[in-house]
Amino acid sequence: MSFVSQQFPWLAALAERGLLRQLLSRRDHVFGFSGARAHYINSRVRLLALLFAVLTPLWIPVDYFLLERDQFLLMSIVRLLFSMGLLMLYAVPETGVRLFQARRRLVVLMLLPTLFHLLTQSILKDAASNELLLCYSFLPFLIIVMHCIFPLALTEGVGLAVLTITLLSLGELYQGALFSVRGLIDLWLMLLIMGVAIWAQLSQLHMQLRLFNEATTDPLTGLLNRRTLMKQLNHVQQQSLRTGRPMSLMMLDLDHFKQINDRFGHQGGDRVLELFAQILQQQVRSSDYVSRFGGEEFLVLLTDARQQDALQLAERILNGCRTSKVALEDCREIRFGVSIGVAQLDGTTSVEDCLSQADAALYQAKTQGRDRVVLAGLGADRE
Ligand code: GH3
Ligand code: MG
Ligand code: MG
Repeated sequence: MSFVSQQFPWLAALAERGLLRQLLSRRDHVFGFSGARAHYINSRVRLLALLFAVLTPLWIPVDYFLLERDQFLLMSIVRLLFSMGLLMLYAVPETGVRLFQARRRLVVLMLLPTLFHLLTQSILKDAASNELLLCYSFLPFLIIVMHCIFPLALTEGVGLAVLTITLLSLGELYQGALFSVRGLIDLWLMLLIMGVAIWAQLSQLHMQLRLFNEATTDPLTGLLNRRTLMKQLNHVQQQSLRTGRPMSLMMLDLDHFKQINDRFGHQGGDRVLELFAQILQQQVRSSDYVSRFGGEEFLVLLTDARQQDALQLAERILNGCRTSKVALEDCREIRFGVSIGVAQLDGTTSVEDCLSQADAALYQAKTQGRDRVVLAGLGADRE
């Protein structure tokens, strides 16, 4: 690995930030990114579909001058059918922003022109040998270039590339042209351009992942930021209403943090915030959401958890803080504590009400002496 990081420092930097895995496969994409990417892919599929739907029939007058009458009639029908198919793809409404729907549309967008090309080839059998008809053999390259404009992970991009090139090659095989010199040169060119297209897809995905991470996470702790958690909160509440499963909110505020800053400086305070974020992430389940709500306040959304489950987690966090310390370079140590308020969100409570209940419980935890958890409604505190 050290050889790799010496020779390819950019690769090591990508791996370190967890971006490499996200570029390889969509399974490692961070929360919420799939929805944003689905929306992006959908809008580009629709735009391209509309563009092709309009441009394809515009070529009919050119067909009229280049083709024989029978070929011209067949080509016109094929063009109109292709254009209608694309218009349907454009018009199908976007239901939600599901990634699998967006990817299905993308496959259809690539399949339609491929099918169109195969039909064109079988209508114009002599296209390759007739110089005037050479323009009809450029479509495969255009189809491949279209792959460039979509942000796809490597596994997705390669899958789509294999599908497209296999179908295009089957057409050549059917025509008996695949193993001719011209057929092999075309295949080689298609593979080269597809390689560049996949590189472009990865670059786009990389840029989007970075922008998305910057917009949704807190730079100091790496936790979700407030805006992202609030969005997720509404989404999870809808889910919870549908499934009837309870969810809980936990509001946490570091104790006497101003004094920590005053004694150890802002950098010391920042180190505490980073360590506290690590403690939170170690304790929660992978289905929970942890955010830095602002300053030294944090909010945890616990899915499928009653107040009692949240109470147990809160106690583990309290213990985690009591047994942790930040060791400074000048040998001083920073110890810190936290106060926690917990509220349960059910069908009868709005997100805002639940937030203010958790906030009120946190306030009680502070007034009752800090370093403890209080359950909303019960007023019971646990040290
Ligand atoms: P309490 O126990 O009542 O919560 O007291 P407190 O001192 O923690 O609360 P207070 O609201 O008085 O002070 C919060 C401090 O947190 C003030 C602010 O300077 C500090 N703070 C906010 N954001 C950051 C940050 O990003 N880094 C550091 N080091 N300090 C921050
Ligand atoms: Mg505080
Ligand atoms: Mg505070």
